Amino acid sequence: MIYLNDSYIKEFQATIVAVEDEKIITADSCFYAQSGGQPGDKGVLEVNDQKFNVINTIKHEKGIAHVLEEAIEEASGEIQGSIDWDHRFRLMRMHTSMHLLCAALPYYVTGGSIGLEKSRIDFDLGEETFDFETLNQIINDFIQQEHPISYQWITNEELDQQLELVRTLSVQPPRTNGQIRLVKIGTIDLQPCGGTHVANTKEIGEFKFLKYESKGKMNKRVQFTLD
Ligand SMILES: [Zn+2]
Repeated sequence: MIYLNDSYIKEFQATIVAVEDEKIITADSCFYAQSGGQPGDKGVLEVNDQKFNVINTIKHEKGIAHVLEEAIEEASGEIQGSIDWDHRFRLMRMHTSMHLLCAALPYYVTGGSIGLEKSRIDFDLGEETFDFETLNQIINDFIQQEHPISYQWITNEELDQQLELVRTLSVQPPRTNGQIRLVKIGTIDLQPCGGTHVANTKEIGEFKFLKYESKGKMNKRVQFTLD
């Protein structure tokens, strides 16, 4: 998918492969399809001089489905799409912050949800306790250390030999043609992930720890926002 190869691509062209109710489906897209706790992209599709607002993007058996405000009769041929970059870039900053939390808290991730206003990530912390003011400082230090984010692809077999890289029990890393993408944040985090990330931690801005809650024995929830 385009967004897996480059999360800074904001526009694309493609041929429509299907139209189903309010969905326009293409084989590939730069629109991120909702998964792994990250919402789908919004934006605009242009088809034969008509413009449609995309309110969500989801995976589909034929590729990527761009969800419109209402059903359309039919459409075919070429489309041009552009994503709502403000929405996407904020989600990229939020998502990358989740990796920094993983770097700071080396425990299994049991859940997570990324939002525009605030995001949350759940860890299986066991009996551990943390000073969350210190955690806030650690994350902001990571951001200011300007770690670059890079990618590498490995095979299923290679991942199976390094299962310690898998940080979450709840989301299986996406496998594309037998390959899994590893996301590397400088020297601090390496894990399989199919989401969208900023290119350097400095783009995240200021991290603000909001709240810590116990949601059960295996779920300790950290909520945060960004300035
Ligand atoms: Zn990620």
